[in-house]
Amino acid sequence: MHDSEKKGAIFLDRDGTLNPDPGYIDSPDDYELYPETVRALKNLSTTGLPFILVTNQSGIGRGLIEETALEAIHNKLDTLLNQHGLVLLGIYYCPHTPEEGCNCRKPSTGMFTQAADEQGVDLTSSYMIGDSVADVLAANAVGVQSILVKTGNGQRTEREILNGKLSADFVGDNLSECAEYIVNLEAQR
Ligand SMILES: [Mg+2]
Ligand SMILES: [Zn+2]
Repeated sequence: MHDSEKKGAIFLDRDGTLNPDPGYIDSPDDYELYPETVRALKNLSTTGLPFILVTNQSGIGRGLIEETALEAIHNKLDTLLNQHGLVLLGIYYCPHTPEEGCNCRKPSTGMFTQAADEQGVDLTSSYMIGDSVADVLAANAVGVQSILVKTGNGQRTEREILNGKLSADFVGDNLSECAEYIVNLEAQR
């Protein structure tokens, strides 16, 4: 595929971005989306850009989450979205602990480059929405627009921006605001 034929994607963090983050969700029974998530993603889907999930799941490496449970959780996420005509083009997760020093755990960029390679995505035309410092750093490092959502860890992350230690392309109070930002930008293309 020629680079000119590639288009962007909307990379999405999971915990604290699509769903509340109580820490190490280990069962689909405990997995629920934020009330606004479906509406925001429906709005985003009008851009025609595909969604790709990129999530750190060190609970696997720490022995707190079974890999089969994580698959069941992601099946539930798929189902919750599919009911509304929404599709994730890919789900990428890092199962490692920080101590393992892998290249996929955000703020490292391995999941983004792998997804771009496998899905034919142009990173420079892409966006990343996440709530943590690691999401913003990974987005900036890989050259996608970094969008901080102030749910989950987002308010803590915003403090790093306000004190000049971190920069993001946009900060939104919630997923709906972030969606609006992207939809408006894409409308100008
Ligand atoms: Mg998160
Ligand atoms: Zn990893």
